[in-house]
Amino acid sequence: MIIKNINSVKVYLFEKLQKENTLVHFTTFKKSFGEDFNLSGRNGAEHWKILKKALKLESSQLVLLKQIHSDIVIDIDDKNSGLSCCKGDGLITNRRGILLSVLTADCVPVLIYDPTTKTIGAVHAGWRGTSKRIVAKTINLMKERYSIDIKKTIACIGPSIGPCCYEVGKDVAEIFYEKPVKQFIKRRDKYSDKYFLDLWEINKQQLMESGLLESNIETAGICTRCRSDIFYSARAAGKSVTGRFATGIMLL
Ligand SMILES: [Zn+2]
Repeated sequence: MIIKNINSVKVYLFEKLQKENTLVHFTTFKKSFGEDFNLSGRNGAEHWKILKKALKLESSQLVLLKQIHSDIVIDIDDKNSGLSCCKGDGLITNRRGILLSVLTADCVPVLIYDPTTKTIGAVHAGWRGTSKRIVAKTINLMKERYSIDIKKTIACIGPSIGPCCYEVGKDVAEIFYEKPVKQFIKRRDKYSDKYFLDLWEINKQQLMESGLLESNIETAGICTRCRSDIFYSARAAGKSVTGRFATGIMLL
């Protein structure tokens, strides 16, 4: 696990993106700064202020979605930027100095980068977004608007609930129970109507179907429920309220 301090805010980094000197990216921890670095809820604004200061950003450089488990992807062009821009679950841009970020606590955060056209994307994919193919739709919009070089494009699947812990009911399993992702759904046992869903692999498949090379896809492989000591996990929190951590990317 690559951990770095950005001006005393501790963050997780992806191997494939940390080599790139044309961008910054990060995933925050539960304890990135202080004991409870929740980026949503009551103290969210205060924690964003700390993060912005660490990254030396103005509020106008920040794009925060109102995430709605949809397949809506927004292109941040000259018309829309700034805090809380819009409803949706995918963001793309080729503008420098604009931080695209998503908030999660079990759902899958995905960062995308094409080094050829210098285009970035950030996606929030829970089971709903994954079933609506949000990640594939994000890649499609990047192709359409910015003609990305798909064979060079990198995608990173961040810390999120793993196939070890993501138990779903038959209703959810059935939505995915079709080729080619059938193999990524495991029935708990033959008497059970509970299933384990592998959102990491299903999203990876969508990226590969969109034309990305497997060698350009990185999966953090860190289950937030197993590692609820370092990341927020809605499942681990059960009925109590949990925080959210941020995964973001920005072109320099
Ligand atoms: Zn797990």
